[in-house]
Amino acid sequence: MADTIRSIRGMNDILPDTTPYWQAVESTLNEVLTAYGYQEIRFPIVEKTALFSRSIGEVTDIVEKEMYSFTDRNGDSLTLRPEGTAGCVRAAMQNGLLNQTQRLWYMGPMFRHERPQKGRYRQFHQIGVEAYGFKGPDIDAEMIVMTARLWKQLGLSGLTLQINSLGSTEARLAYRQTLVTYYEANQTLLDEDSQRRLQSNPLRILDSKNPAMQELNDNAPTLLEHLDDESKQDFDALRETLDSIGIEYEVNPRLVRGLDYYGKTVFEWVTDHLGSQGTVCAGGRYDSLVAQLGGRGATAIGFAIGLERLIALLEAMDALPEIGNIDAYIVAVGDNAAKQALFLAEQLRDQIPDLKLITHCGGGSFKSQFKHADRSGARWSLILGDDEINQQVISVKTMATGEQETVPWDALANYLQS
Ligand code: ATP
Ligand code: MG
Repeated sequence: MADTIRSIRGMNDILPDTTPYWQAVESTLNEVLTAYGYQEIRFPIVEKTALFSRSIGEVTDIVEKEMYSFTDRNGDSLTLRPEGTAGCVRAAMQNGLLNQTQRLWYMGPMFRHERPQKGRYRQFHQIGVEAYGFKGPDIDAEMIVMTARLWKQLGLSGLTLQINSLGSTEARLAYRQTLVTYYEANQTLLDEDSQRRLQSNPLRILDSKNPAMQELNDNAPTLLEHLDDESKQDFDALRETLDSIGIEYEVNPRLVRGLDYYGKTVFEWVTDHLGSQGTVCAGGRYDSLVAQLGGRGATAIGFAIGLERLIALLEAMDALPEIGNIDAYIVAVGDNAAKQALFLAEQLRDQIPDLKLITHCGGGSFKSQFKHADRSGARWSLILGDDEINQQVISVKTMATGEQETVPWDALANYLQS
């Protein structure tokens, strides 16, 4: 017997008992983003590899070891998108959207070859939000305030906001040197990952999740002490706005983000209800990326929400959205009744557009059809047999109580709506 083919490790099926939660969450996010004037953009899942290596950075975790890259039949190196920002910038540049300011969002699967574990998958889903052409820090505040509203609208608690400023490119370069000097003086305390990052990406050492690195990192000089004037002013203004709107935050001087294109404001929403994969939403400014990709400079800021983590958090906080049940299930015994059932069902759907109605298909005895009705979770079963057809009525059974009533066909829509 042939082996059955199974899914790829870290790539999950999202099954019908869960998709209603996804749909509800996605539509709430869509509503809030739309209400702030953000518009949806859709761009391909596959792009040229160079787009990601040039934007995310050659020495980042993503580009070094997490990308799904392959050579297509033309010999081009292509990559399944590991994140959305690069593709969104590419699409905006290519289609002339950067001639004016833009507020955009997108949603879909992302792919990273990571070690699969709770909250970390190889195919996962993000809602990403990007704004182009705004210098900030007002838009920085808008985005953060908007994320806070998303949580509110989802009925979600348990998230903490962390903010930091990565400063200008020059300030970051100078700081990088300070940091390298500090770590070199403490070289024996560096773990293997950090040894490797010391030359390639020393800021990322600060982000180490290794408890043994904690003390060393706690005592490291911070970028906040080395900010350029403009970044400092913007950061102060951002904090003032958040204070005045009443958004609580922690300044985390070790928040650096894993992608090379960030500068100035960065932020994350984190939780300790999800174990070690606690970052649900992450973002920041990336003013240099457009120019780096060959466009005329446009300032930019964005964030992405990991939907798997968001839904896991909703579950952990017992805040999953209410999912509407099926309203009615039509049980019809005999060929004549089955035909009539389809006709009646279409009439009901015209009369009650949001009615959730299942008509039994596939025949069978009254008893077996009724079992299906029960399993569907419907509030009512609507029963049609020869007697009912002769009298042009239908028996309506309330499943919770077992109560049954006879309702004429032309009164059925009213009955179900009352
Ligand atoms: P982490 O530090 O958790 O690896 P990251 O810095 O790589 O996150 P981003 O690239 O900023 O993450 O992605 C934004 C969000 O997308 C993350 O905060 C997280 O919620 C989600 N995310 C990232 N990678 C994964 C993954 N492999 N599986 C599930 N969700 C993910
Ligand atoms: Mg990562």
